[in-house]
Amino acid sequence: AKKVYYGPVYFRRESEPYMTLALAGTRRDAGVSVAEVNLKLIWDVITAIKVGEHGQAFVIDAQGRLIAHPDISLVLRNTDMTKLTQVIAARAAGAGATDEPVQVATDVRGRDVLTAYASVAPLGWIIFVELPLEEAYAPLYDAIKRSGALLFAGLILAFLSGVFLARRMVVPIQMLRAGAARIGAGDLTQRISIKTGDELEGLADQFNDMAGKLEESYSGLEHKVEQRTEELAQSVGELRALGEVSQAVNSTLDLETVLNTIVTKAVQLSGTETGAIYVYHEAKHEFELRSTYGMSEELITAIKAHHAGTGVAADDPVGKAYATSAMVQILDLRNEAATPTLELVLRAGYRALLVVPLVGAGGVIGALVVRRKAPGEFPKQTTDVLQTFAAQSVLAIQNAHLFTEIGEKSHQLEVASQHKSQFLANMSHELRTPLNAILGYTELILDQIYGETPEKMKGVIERVQSNGKHLLGLINDVLDLSKIEAGQLVLSLADYSIKDLVQSVFTAVESLANAKKLALKIEAPPDLPSGRGDERRLAQVLLNLVGNAIKFTDNGEVAIKAAAVNGSYTVSVRDTGPGIAPSDQAKIFEEFQQADSSATKSKGGTGLGLAIARRIVEMHGGKIWVESAVGMGATFFVSVPVRVEQQAGRP
Ligand code: ADP
Repeated sequence: AKKVYYGPVYFRRESEPYMTLALAGTRRDAGVSVAEVNLKLIWDVITAIKVGEHGQAFVIDAQGRLIAHPDISLVLRNTDMTKLTQVIAARAAGAGATDEPVQVATDVRGRDVLTAYASVAPLGWIIFVELPLEEAYAPLYDAIKRSGALLFAGLILAFLSGVFLARRMVVPIQMLRAGAARIGAGDLTQRISIKTGDELEGLADQFNDMAGKLEESYSGLEHKVEQRTEELAQSVGELRALGEVSQAVNSTLDLETVLNTIVTKAVQLSGTETGAIYVYHEAKHEFELRSTYGMSEELITAIKAHHAGTGVAADDPVGKAYATSAMVQILDLRNEAATPTLELVLRAGYRALLVVPLVGAGGVIGALVVRRKAPGEFPKQTTDVLQTFAAQSVLAIQNAHLFTEIGEKSHQLEVASQHKSQFLANMSHELRTPLNAILGYTELILDQIYGETPEKMKGVIERVQSNGKHLLGLINDVLDLSKIEAGQLVLSLADYSIKDLVQSVFTAVESLANAKKLALKIEAPPDLPSGRGDERRLAQVLLNLVGNAIKFTDNGEVAIKAAAVNGSYTVSVRDTGPGIAPSDQAKIFEEFQQADSSATKSKGGTGLGLAIARRIVEMHGGKIWVESAVGMGATFFVSVPVRVEQQAGRP
């Protein structure tokens, strides 16, 4: 057919592959040339193909039979390769596809390989090359391993450098922190030493600077605080001294004690050695040494002797202070013109002195003097304090004067009051005698002893008698009160029955109550203990209370009630009268005091009854009081000990 014929591959002597090639001649008669080609040569070629280290090549014919392979035995065994996936794929692709991509497959021995193929066109053969997958990927794995190792090394490096850097940063920061904490805790001498040459060092320097400045201002502050504390202590000392002085002025009336306190504190606070207080004696026109501190007996005597009888010396510092009413300071006695007192003081070793005049309302009343052995001026603070002390001294001296005056006055008053009471007592006694005579005679006239009394005259005589009785009552009251005031009223203590006492009062006033149509009630339990006291005086008290109750009550009742509780009798007199306003309740027990209400004022009276009653009750060691409200009646209470063995003193 004028073509080239390629025969199948066959094996001679079961070992050598052959192939028949037939070629028609170009000339007509040339026939066909047939050649048996030994394919062993291909083997050599195939074997020579080196793919990697363990890679190999093989060839299959169009039927898929192995025709060349480095392992000749496989070829000789006529191995069928058509089952291999790569072969199937290559054959399916057809003869034209030579650029099949490399693929992974399994080779004839079952190993994983990377394989590629190419067709040998006219023959329909396919040549495969394969490389064990392991080997193919080996460089890849190597690369991965290398990269991994590199990565690991990089990581370690990064870690190490991180640690290094962190140490470089953290250590100084910790030093900073610790240093700052110590500075914060008050150790201002602390300095932070960081030599990193970076911002941290700068920061540490700033800290050190700050600590330095703090230290500076701190020590300045301490100094200031010390100074202030000293000043404060001084002020506190002054205040305390002043407090003591005012306390002395206020708590004792003994002038000596007060002046001693003042002069002592004045010397102590002014930083001087001795001090003295002179009091001006107006009558003698001289200064009298009244109080001293730290002065020797000798100096005291000398000064006293010098001042006595000489009047106020104008050239003397005290005299100058007196004349000018102003403070006199002598800075150095050596520079002063010598006067007798200055000589004395200078000889005693003093160089500086300060005289503060004690100026009262009427002029200079004395002088406060302090003396110092060191010459020089007295600080303003000292002079201020001494001025205050001088003012206190003035107060003390004036208080003492006032006190003496008050003492004298009250003594005079007491004497006068006694005279008054005595006079009243005498007078009322003297008044009673003629009054009794008048009352006696009127009684006799009314009894017709002197013949029949005309009816017209009888009325007049009766008025004389009733007014006379009233006057006698008044005189008796005044007498009682004066006696009490003069301390002449003495209780005559004896046993008595309270029940009988109440009963006798009841009997005495019964007719009065009947006349006013008032119910008069009496309530006394039978088992009342027997009492001891001045029965007559207690009856007087009760009579007064019941008499008032009947006098002020226009309708209703008056009830007397006696009881004994805890060793005391309580007798109450209750009425249904006008009552007493709370504002009047205390004052009605005072002499000559009556309630302000018109309801009771119109009833007359002197306001002496309750005052006398109170005195008598108090002399029994008891109490008297009232419970009342306006319009609600009044209840008077008297409470006296059941047994009074001794008269109580004047309240
Ligand atoms: P006198 O009755 O002589 O005025 P007292 O000392 O006995 O003096 O009484 C003082 C005042 O107390 C009376 O003026 C009266 O205003 C008031 N008083 C006393 N007892 C009563 C009473 N029972 N009810 C109302 N007022 C009374």
